[in-house]
Amino acid sequence: MSENNTRDDGYEKVCAACHRTESQAGRMLRMYGGLYVCTDCLQRTFDMMNMGGKPADTGNIPNFGPGFDPYMMNPFMNMDMMSGMPNMPKVKKRNTDGKPASQDPNGGQITGEPGSENGAGVNAQANGTNGQEEEELPALDYKKLPPPHKIKEQLDEYVIGQERAKKIISVAVYNHYKRVTKDAAGDIQIDKSNILMLGPTGCGKTYIVQTLARLLNVPLAITDATTLTEAGYIGDDVESVLSKLLKAADNDVDRAECGIVFIDEIDKIAKKRNVTNRDVSGESVQQGLLKILEGAKIEVPVGASSKNALVPMVSMDTRNILFICGGAFPDLEDIIKRRLSKQSGIGFNADLKDKFDKEPNILEHTTNEDLREYGMIPEFLGRLPVICPLHGLDQDMLVQIMRDPRNAILKQYQKLLALDEVDLEFDEDALASIAEKALGKETGARGLRSIIEEFMLDIMYEIPKDSTIGRVYITKGYVEGSGGPRIEVRG
Ligand code: ADP
Repeated sequence: MSENNTRDDGYEKVCAACHRTESQAGRMLRMYGGLYVCTDCLQRTFDMMNMGGKPADTGNIPNFGPGFDPYMMNPFMNMDMMSGMPNMPKVKKRNTDGKPASQDPNGGQITGEPGSENGAGVNAQANGTNGQEEEELPALDYKKLPPPHKIKEQLDEYVIGQERAKKIISVAVYNHYKRVTKDAAGDIQIDKSNILMLGPTGCGKTYIVQTLARLLNVPLAITDATTLTEAGYIGDDVESVLSKLLKAADNDVDRAECGIVFIDEIDKIAKKRNVTNRDVSGESVQQGLLKILEGAKIEVPVGASSKNALVPMVSMDTRNILFICGGAFPDLEDIIKRRLSKQSGIGFNADLKDKFDKEPNILEHTTNEDLREYGMIPEFLGRLPVICPLHGLDQDMLVQIMRDPRNAILKQYQKLLALDEVDLEFDEDALASIAEKALGKETGARGLRSIIEEFMLDIMYEIPKDSTIGRVYITKGYVEGSGGPRIEVRG
């Protein structure tokens, strides 16, 4: 920015937006292209951004007349000019030595409950308002990354079952972050290990990723593939995924560049079979994602999901971002069964079909060809080399999910009642009955909470009324609506 009142050519500087001279408008900022803008016009533009593009209260800024157009300033702006201006989303600048700037201060220990207020993905979302952006994060030391078996051990405390998936993810994540280290750079280029998780709804795909991000203390953005559209169509374009990550990293570009992006419902952008018109929602979104999955420098809108004239942009490198895609792939099992029975020879087809129908973990046999047949394009699959199948949850697993994890829902209710000095116990057959109801809903573990909340409402309402109650047993009859809970008075 020039400090002189006059330009190199001897003329006075004139604001490109309001056309006032520097002696009238005060200090001028030099924009790209050699144009100048006065601080009033710049401030007015930022005020409009904060108001979602609506004209701001002009306050003491003069009316610049019909020639005034703050929109025209945007092409000349960059983040350097914006940082330091009031009300702007603050963007942490890249380290000049190219080293990542953040660190897991806990050496990979889980510090809170996934999905909790302090959990991954939400820990940084109050961007720009809590003063956290001023806090310098210590440099990330990937040597402190827990090895795969430790990662899995910590996942085990939260995620029930899914042993193979937890193993695959632990190794993939460990390798990914090793690849990110400078030490790992050398002659041999380690490929990116983006992950594709396949499994029915409510089996823990999102939960595993949330737990992982929490464990590694990296920012996490969760997005839904169904909201993504090809650039130019209504909906979010693929860069919005990175905007979310940047937001989760408190606008710290270095931290965001080592984060995790989880794209859910990825099966919904499968190429539709037998379509003659243009396939806007499916194949083209897969195409749009290719670049960011592989690793590229992308201009990302800061603080908004889409680009427009008023949104500042920052450049993000996606090479070290771990992308995890998840989907239920509802008809994939049929494709796999068909392939397996075809492969197994002619003549025994009926027997084999029967055998594969009964096979509970058929998704473990998934190959790239099956996914291609499903409608995922080969280039897309090529960028998700780690396939991670998850199982549907059975009744026993659902009981364990209610009871065993560190933040199990039953433990939460027990803690709530313990504050009223009441013990809460669940009969085994009551738990089995809840699990059975949840199985009927076909939404995996997601159904559990609503079922439990329904019958716990009366308990939570009635118990505090009576101070003589010392213990409550939830019985099968009570869960099924045919009886009441067993109550013990204080001894
Ligand atoms: P999806 O597979 O559809 O992404 P989620 O991971 O969102 O399902 O699961 C929904 C909720 O169910 C989670 O928040 C978690 O509380 C619970 N849950 C699902 N699977 C498991 C599991 N294997 N272990 C523990 N909790 C689970």
